[in-house]
Amino acid sequence: MPPFTHLEFHRSGIGLVPQGTGETGTAIYIDLLPGTSKPLRSCTCGASRSKTCEHLKDLSRAVGEVEKSRGGRSWERTFAASLWYRLARLLFEGNAQPSAKVKVQRLRRNVVRVTSPAGAELARYLDKGESQIRFLERTGKVAPGSGVFDRAELLERLALFQATPEERALIKRGMKTQRQTWEESFWHRLAYHCERELEPGETGTFHPAIDQANGAFTLTWKRDAEAVVQVTVPRDRVRAALLLLAEAYPDQEDLVLRPIPLRSIFHASQDTELDLVEVRPVIRALQATGEERFLEMAEVEKFRYGNLIWLQDLGVLAELEREGRERKFKAPVRLTLRRHQVPGFLDEHSQAVGEGVLVLDAPLRERRIWKTLDRIQIAAADPEEALERSWWWLAVEYGFGDQTVSLADILQAKREGHPYLEVPGGWIDLNAAVFRDLEELVDRQPVAESGKRAGRIRLSPSDLLRLQATAGVPVSVVAEARAELLDRILELRPAGPFRRPTGLATEPRPYQKIGIEWLRFLWENRLAGLLCDDMGLGKTLQTAAFLVGLAEEGAAVEPFLVACPTSVLPHWRDQIRRHAPGLRPHVHYGPQRRLPFRLRTGDVLLTSYGVLRRDAEELSAIPFSVVVFDEIQQVKNRQTQAWQAASHLTADLRLGLTGTPIENSLEELKTLFDLVLPGYLGTDAAFLGRYVRPDDGRDREWVEDDRRRELRRVISPFVLRRLKASVLDELPEKIEDVRTCVLSDDQVKLYRDAIAGKGAELARRIEEETDEPLPYIHVFALLNLLKQICDHPALVHGALDRVDEWASGKWDLWKELLGEALDNGQKVVVFTQYLGMVALMERHVRTLGVGCVSLTGATANRGEIVDRFNRDPACRVFIGSLKAGGTGIDLVGGSVVIHYDRWWNAAREDQATDRVYRLGQKRAVQVFKLVTEGTLEEKISALIDRKRKMMESVVQEDDPKLAKIFSRDELLEMLRGV
Ligand SMILES: [Zn+2]
Repeated sequence: MPPFTHLEFHRSGIGLVPQGTGETGTAIYIDLLPGTSKPLRSCTCGASRSKTCEHLKDLSRAVGEVEKSRGGRSWERTFAASLWYRLARLLFEGNAQPSAKVKVQRLRRNVVRVTSPAGAELARYLDKGESQIRFLERTGKVAPGSGVFDRAELLERLALFQATPEERALIKRGMKTQRQTWEESFWHRLAYHCERELEPGETGTFHPAIDQANGAFTLTWKRDAEAVVQVTVPRDRVRAALLLLAEAYPDQEDLVLRPIPLRSIFHASQDTELDLVEVRPVIRALQATGEERFLEMAEVEKFRYGNLIWLQDLGVLAELEREGRERKFKAPVRLTLRRHQVPGFLDEHSQAVGEGVLVLDAPLRERRIWKTLDRIQIAAADPEEALERSWWWLAVEYGFGDQTVSLADILQAKREGHPYLEVPGGWIDLNAAVFRDLEELVDRQPVAESGKRAGRIRLSPSDLLRLQATAGVPVSVVAEARAELLDRILELRPAGPFRRPTGLATEPRPYQKIGIEWLRFLWENRLAGLLCDDMGLGKTLQTAAFLVGLAEEGAAVEPFLVACPTSVLPHWRDQIRRHAPGLRPHVHYGPQRRLPFRLRTGDVLLTSYGVLRRDAEELSAIPFSVVVFDEIQQVKNRQTQAWQAASHLTADLRLGLTGTPIENSLEELKTLFDLVLPGYLGTDAAFLGRYVRPDDGRDREWVEDDRRRELRRVISPFVLRRLKASVLDELPEKIEDVRTCVLSDDQVKLYRDAIAGKGAELARRIEEETDEPLPYIHVFALLNLLKQICDHPALVHGALDRVDEWASGKWDLWKELLGEALDNGQKVVVFTQYLGMVALMERHVRTLGVGCVSLTGATANRGEIVDRFNRDPACRVFIGSLKAGGTGIDLVGGSVVIHYDRWWNAAREDQATDRVYRLGQKRAVQVFKLVTEGTLEEKISALIDRKRKMMESVVQEDDPKLAKIFSRDELLEMLRGV
């Protein structure tokens, strides 16, 4: 299309610029007047009314020429599709710049400058030709009377006539549509002018440029290398503008965005001494060569255009990578860290470092924060230092990677409250789990400050073991001096292996030897312990073997003390007599008790917790080598006098025995440890806070689990527990044990009365040695009465519901054994020959809240009962009368058998035992036979053993003539009093 410089276009309207001077009429033609279906012709001169207006005639001609030259294409559409239009539109978004408000200045002959009301440069018009005049006319900034036509006014008139009814309505209310605002903007006017004047086909191109002084981004349209128009692109429009132009000029190099990945990150760098670390935002540029460059954010800010950054020395615009997700690491613009703040900062932002958001300078990058350790080593010890005061001065070092740090330095730093300790190559996190348990050492301040022991630390064997347990890494001894000894402690080994003392009659089993060696280890290192083997594994034997060894070697010169429940006193005495005849047991019990005048090496004082409590003062005055607390869970309550008395005893070694797992109640565990190894588990408050009710805001289940494991490790050197199942191979399949007990005062009285009454008369008749047959029926009845007295006075009184009114030694022992077996998770089978006892026992088991079945001659559904015991995990006790339950049934669900009373016939007992100990039984069966000391039970027991063979073959059961089997002397012996 020819220039038509005398015409102006707006939407579908055309206006005529008057030719020549003095002309006043400006004619317009609008193809279709909005709101009507008609065109509009109008002129401002007076002649237009009389339709003789030359202006309109000229315009009609021009319109015809325009239509002819455009070939039916409308100006409006062509313009809207033009590059100028799209570029202007892009610059207009968010930066409208109304045409009426911009400032247009002619600086020099060939430079027209357009600035915003705020003074920012928007564009320059640099054409020297006539188009510059028209640019000025179209931007409407001509002084009146300058002889220059106001094309802007003509364009505004065209716009006004073409306003739609809606637009008119808005204008009336002082508003505008987006379209109107756009059309009235300087950008629209600029685009219009350029599209009109700078025709396609000319050799015009766009060139981006950046002002080195202020970073302003401009696009210049050049014609044959001569600048014609230059626009300043707002920073946030640069990218869109370049994309638009690159599409139009795909071959033009300087319009292309370079694919250099840029990332906005933070950079931490330090001065050489690491005294100050500076963290500041930077841009990382990764070039195609793989080379990384860091650009200071402050410096690139001037050349930053939204996500684009001008890489000055490369001469390219590169684009920042978008951040995929919200960053966790948010640093202020700039941050300076002091030396002590550095590890905390790095620790906190380790993830940002890992993700490359925080970049560390080389020396900083190589520094580590250690939270775990590889090893602990004991580097030095004094060769001459003996374990006299239960501790040594040791140089202990913690190893991390290829370096070590002394425990003394760690403790020092912790005491001063530092969260990190600086070491070559990094820092150690002093709050890491491996150092948690050092608090106790920190409080004690056991570090030597000066002298030849400077830097060494005073540690007891238990400190050392705790260190090893909590660190969870091996402790090795690299010190030459005392290495053997220290190694032994860390391995819980005694000086030598177990050798059977001559005073030990029984050869211990392999696992028992391990137990004895462990006890020996505790002794040698002035430690203490809890032996918690399952019931039936021989805790008593291991203890007796350990004690007799000490006495024999002269390692322990003071006597020993065993405190236990009354019911097991006879058991201790019997066990020592039987298995460790090298020891001399003294039972210190009963109203007549008196301490031996002088206790010697090898003497074992046996006493009950009751007596321990009553004779506390007297007993605490005696120095013991070893004090044993059997069934130590009986003194689990610190408020009791028994606990107090126990804790006041003087001993080199305190040993607790129990078959009950002690870790179930942590408070109890603490009390027991306080008794045998005072101070080891720290204060109650610290213990509670750490293990029982941890309150440090972390996940409760995790804490409990984690802390439970930690506690288990901490106590592990001092607790030995073997389960039956784990030493099954070493156990005989059936362990038989006769447990003795003593008559209570109630029983003694009944027993004496019976002997003094009927007993005396019968004894007299037996002694007479007449030819008359012995009154066997009466003898049998009396023996039966005596047996019932031994079982429980309630049987004799026929008052089963008043069981607590009388005491019974056997009843107490039975309850003890039953409780231990149940605690151990075993199922128990009990046999008695008295129905009354079946009832008493059943009632007792139910009060324990334990499931129980019983079987007597009156039971109808035997099969069901047996089945329930064998299969129901909740049914844990079977009580049977010997007659009904002793034959024909299968009780393999049980693994502990208690014969409450002795039958005359060993075969009958064995038969009953075999209900449990039989094919299908997968566990070792433990059999207890209860015998009351000094009564006919003891004599029967001895007789049965002696005449076992004969009785098995000859004696008919339930036969009063059974008594015939006994000689006169034997009968007389049985009828003797207690
Ligand atoms: Zn006219």
